[in-house]
Amino acid sequence: MIVRTVAELRAQVAAWKADGAVVGLVPTMGALHDGHLSLVERARAECGRVIVSIFVNPKQFNNPEDLAKYPRDEARDLALLEGVDAVFLPSVEEMYPAGFASTVHVERLGDRLEGTHRPGHFDGMATVVTKLFTMSQADVAFFGEKDWQQLQIVRRFVTDLNLPIRIEGCPTLREADGLAMSSRNRRLGAQARAAAVAMHDALQGAARAVRRGEGADMALRVGVEALHVAGFATVDYLELCDAETLEPVGTLSRPARLLVAASIDGVRLIDNIAV
Ligand code: AMP
Repeated sequence: MIVRTVAELRAQVAAWKADGAVVGLVPTMGALHDGHLSLVERARAECGRVIVSIFVNPKQFNNPEDLAKYPRDEARDLALLEGVDAVFLPSVEEMYPAGFASTVHVERLGDRLEGTHRPGHFDGMATVVTKLFTMSQADVAFFGEKDWQQLQIVRRFVTDLNLPIRIEGCPTLREADGLAMSSRNRRLGAQARAAAVAMHDALQGAARAVRRGEGADMALRVGVEALHVAGFATVDYLELCDAETLEPVGTLSRPARLLVAASIDGVRLIDNIAV
């Protein structure tokens, strides 16, 4: 079932809930790949009814060119989602009617890493995700660990705003060579696609070095150098952070996460792994 308005979505979810169904939500921006579909599978395993939203959210693109180039293929996405109960496809006007003026901003956690390099991105994400939660009134929402900082931010505002929804994080699906699946990968030329595996390799190399007890500074410098050598023109960050607060850490006393963002062939990619 395709749903394009909030009113239709609310009516459908109310009927499901009246039947006692647990309702799951998988928010996406479309251009679906197996990573997205793994979230959908997880939702279907855990919830009686599943909604997948597809909305390329203009408010979370700090770069207009990135928004314009973002891949869109509604027909293909709908074919991939055949088994789900509802696909929510709101228009920009449905999501942001005239006069819309509110923002959800998560301090500190949202100001680092991606927040520094993509000003406004997390405000746009947090605002639209809050709206999707309240529009859908879902019981559970599924997010990929691929966007680790996003997942931590969602957990934070759900707690802070007492939103009645449970957040499930799902592992990152990767291509055979280790590259994290991403809608942006399809913009890579063949040579850059082959070289892009260096991002996962750099994370793994740095994680091994840190686990061996080598200083994080040195391990991260080596990783950045490896990315440049592989053909990444810019490395926005490669950092070892506390897995929850994302504050930088130098040693491993609590669960930590290595996070990276870098551009190759004009395409900005991000990835992260547990340490
Ligand atoms: P996006 O359409 O890029 O906004 O992603 C929608 C959801 O899919 C987010 O929760 C992402 O973290 C998740 N996702 C994207 N890529 C992957 C992947 N390779 N593995 C698992 N989840 C992913």
